[in-house]
Amino acid sequence: MENLLEIRRELASRDWEPMTAREAIAWGHERFGDRLVFASSFSLEDVLLIDLACAAGIRPRVFYLDTGVLFPQTYELIGRIAERYGLEPERVLPLLTLEEQAAEYGEKLWVRSPDQCCGIRKVEPLRRYLAGQEAWVTGIHRDQSPTRANAPRVTFDEAFGLVKLNPIVDWTMQDVRRYVAANDVPYNPLHDQGYPSIGCVPCTRAVKPGEDPRGGRWAGFEKTECGLHGH
Ligand code: SF4
Repeated sequence: MENLLEIRRELASRDWEPMTAREAIAWGHERFGDRLVFASSFSLEDVLLIDLACAAGIRPRVFYLDTGVLFPQTYELIGRIAERYGLEPERVLPLLTLEEQAAEYGEKLWVRSPDQCCGIRKVEPLRRYLAGQEAWVTGIHRDQSPTRANAPRVTFDEAFGLVKLNPIVDWTMQDVRRYVAANDVPYNPLHDQGYPSIGCVPCTRAVKPGEDPRGGRWAGFEKTECGLHGH
C-alpha cells in the first residue's frame, strides 16, 4: 500500500459527490490499477457495477465470499456473469469448511450466533483478501437502509485499511432496476420470487410486498449487516 497519508490527503482534497458512477470506477481503475477489486455478492447492484466497468472498457477484478451456503441460483449466476463478461470471479473461502466449523462450534452456528458465523465465513476472509489490495468497490447506495444513508462515494475504509469506492451511492433502487433491465444484465432469478436481498440460504427468506427489503436477512435477529461495511 502506498503512503496512506498521501491517499488520505487526496481523498480529503476532492469533492467526490458530483462524480458519476462511471467516473468513480474510471478514477479507481486509473489510480489503483489491479489493486482495485470489486466485491460481489452478485446482487443487482453488483452485477450492474460489473456491467458498468466492462462498458467503460475496464476489466474488473471481481471477487466473492463463498460461504459454502450460497443459493444454487447464485452459483449459477456466477457462471453466467463469467461467460457474459469473460471474467473469472475470484472465490474467497473461509479458513474453516462447514464440517470443520460444525466440529468446532456445533451444527448450524448461524442459528445460535450469526455474528460469529459471519465473522468466520465472511469478515475474516474479506479482511484477509483485502489486506493485499489498495481499493475496493461496493454496491452500497444510500436508500438501502438507515445505516447507509450517509455513505460517501469515495472514502478511506478505516475498518479494512484501504480506499472504498461506492460508485452508485446516490442511485435509488429504481435506478438500479432500470439499469439492469435496460442493459439486459444477468441477475439472480430469486429477485423475481420475493427476495430483494440475497445472502446465505440459512439466513435469507423472501419478504412480502411492502416489507423492509433487508427484513429477509437474519429474520428474528437484530442483525442487519454482515459486518462488511463497518456497522
Ligand atoms: S449469512 Fe448466515 S450462514 Fe452466512 S455467514 Fe452469516 S450467519 Fe453464516
